[in-house]
Amino acid sequence: MIDSTLPTPTEKVALAPDLRSLSERAIRAWTERMAVRPLGDRYAVDSESGATYVVDPVEGTCTCPDQQLRGETCKHLRRVAIEITAHRVPPPGERRADCAACGTETLVDRDAAEPPLCPACDLERGEVVLDRETGDRLVVVRVAPDRADEVTIPETGRTIADHATNDGYPADDLVVEAVYLGALGQEQPRRYSFPYSRLEPTDDAAIVDGVPLPAER
Ligand SMILES: [Zn+2]
Ligand SMILES: [Zn+2]
Repeated sequence: MIDSTLPTPTEKVALAPDLRSLSERAIRAWTERMAVRPLGDRYAVDSESGATYVVDPVEGTCTCPDQQLRGETCKHLRRVAIEITAHRVPPPGERRADCAACGTETLVDRDAAEPPLCPACDLERGEVVLDRETGDRLVVVRVAPDRADEVTIPETGRTIADHATNDGYPADDLVVEAVYLGALGQEQPRRYSFPYSRLEPTDDAAIVDGVPLPAER
């Protein structure tokens, strides 16, 4: 008798690949002890034998004799693909970074501008956001790598964190530069700086397109 009060089992699946159906090279890629290190868009693989080879997964090349002489998809290339899929190393062109807003480890483009932001925290240039204090709609120019207590407002001589209407937002918030949506038609819309938490993404997730925004600097 099956106890019907138990939770429904998950779908019946195998977690590891079926090694019996794999080629010799694929089995070795899974079972041999190797270390993989990102090298820009390529990866260094320290093999079980002690030799180190360089794999380029985009070009599909490896410096090992197996690949060089026989032109086979060697175990090092396969291992790099396995480690990328398992999120043990970042994919080509990306790097690991701690999100500057929430601290979660994330993958960003290797040449992405500072600060690194995870997909949940990232504010796109041109994205429309809401000022929680006034309900005004603003258009994001950029998320600056500086913190609210590090940036001084020239007119007041005080930091963004010390600004009266920013009371209650974290002093070490990132700084977001934005222009008022209503000012966009102007020749030189003025750019204002806000603590990151003061701005709320809007539901419509509108991206202002085709309207010139101030340069990111
Ligand atoms: Zn190889
Ligand atoms: Zn984040």
